[in-house]
Amino acid sequence: MCIFCKIVDGEIPSNKVLENENFLAFHDINPAAPIHILVIPKRHIDSFQETDSQTMAEVTPFIQEVCKKIGLDKTGYRLITNVGKDGGQEVKHLHFHILGGGKLIWKHYQQNDPHKSI
Ligand code: AMP
Repeated sequence: MCIFCKIVDGEIPSNKVLENENFLAFHDINPAAPIHILVIPKRHIDSFQETDSQTMAEVTPFIQEVCKKIGLDKTGYRLITNVGKDGGQEVKHLHFHILGGGKLIWKHYQQNDPHKSI
């Protein structure tokens, strides 16, 4: 079972922000910004590439509610989902990173990356 499925099942503790029947939001254990929250579907889906439009439609108001609860709706935030090897996805369970709490830098591509496949 993947690590995020274990968090859903309560086998691994998490610092929860918000939860409903289908989704869970919790603080990232290794924050990349002053506020770094992960939003996951409770049902295992490998990544955005495997998700369906209903899940995406349902996760949208959930993410917006999380941002309102934390106050990021006022200050702004970045929403990211990493997909696969080049996307830097480490946990193979669909998740959305919500980053905020300060001005974020904007940089994606690392030249001479030894992991680059194209
Ligand atoms: P990604 O690289 O997009 O797959 O992101 C995975 C994220 O999960 C990373 O930001 C990790 O810090 C985070 N993470 C891994 N294990 C845990 C955990 N037990 N609780 C909270 N966040 C975690």
